[in-house]
Amino acid sequence: AEGVLREAQKMQAIGQLTGGIAHDFNNLLQVILGNLEFIRAKLDGDARLQTRIERASWAAQRGATLTGQLLAFARKQPLAPSAIDLAATMPDLIPLLRRTLGETIDVRYVETVGLWPAMADAAQLESAVLNLALNARDAMPGGGRLTIELGNKVLDDDYVRRHAETVPGDYAMVAVSDTGHGMTPDIVKRVFEPFFTTKPDGKGTGLGLAMVFGFVKQSGGHVKIYSEPGEGTTVKLYLPRAVGAAAATGQRSGSPLDLPR
Ligand code: ADP
Repeated sequence: AEGVLREAQKMQAIGQLTGGIAHDFNNLLQVILGNLEFIRAKLDGDARLQTRIERASWAAQRGATLTGQLLAFARKQPLAPSAIDLAATMPDLIPLLRRTLGETIDVRYVETVGLWPAMADAAQLESAVLNLALNARDAMPGGGRLTIELGNKVLDDDYVRRHAETVPGDYAMVAVSDTGHGMTPDIVKRVFEPFFTTKPDGKGTGLGLAMVFGFVKQSGGHVKIYSEPGEGTTVKLYLPRAVGAAAATGQRSGSPLDLPR
């Protein structure tokens, strides 16, 4: 039974992974197709170049069809979004994180009063946070501090213009910060790529952040990474604020500011 379960988890992981990647990949293909079309219109009468453009177009179209199939496959791996009261569910995770990360890592938890409920799959959110915490641990071999911080965030038009890939609106934020070795900008650029890892000896799969990205994208959210070599890393997950009837069941009025360790 364990094998079957693991297989199911693996399928779900692949589904999420492909969901997030296919979504962005499709956007890139649309850019290629649009530009090919533009060039084709300018190529009056050069038959050989026309043929080349048509071949490139055909390949990009074929790519778009394949990513469409991947997205369809990804959607078969059901996410079960509901309104999550983060202030109620996140504290439960902290003891598990303390046990997993060991004594050399100081785990802190910070939340603000009146947190908005998040619309997401609760089990997937938990595994995303765990993934981030394990990366943080690996970045702090000599010990350090891990901070989980919850907050509300309005992503306005200006933010969206600068960072793209999301829509303006209200988001619940889950931030995971460490005081580890950090990353250079070159590495930050690549961390969402599936199978990208810098961990030696087969220690890494390179799937952790790709899965986190896939999950957040499929939830209609946004991921932002801040990292400074030698200083540490912060990964911020923005999940859409749950509204309406769904939110009413998940909402909780104020809560203490900072849960002691
Ligand atoms: P894996 O952990 O298996 O390598 P991930 O996709 O989770 O795969 O991470 C990819 C890479 O991103 C890591 O190998 C590491 O180089 C970098 N990385 C991720 N999280 C952190 C972090 N908190 N601090 C420093 N580097 C990180």
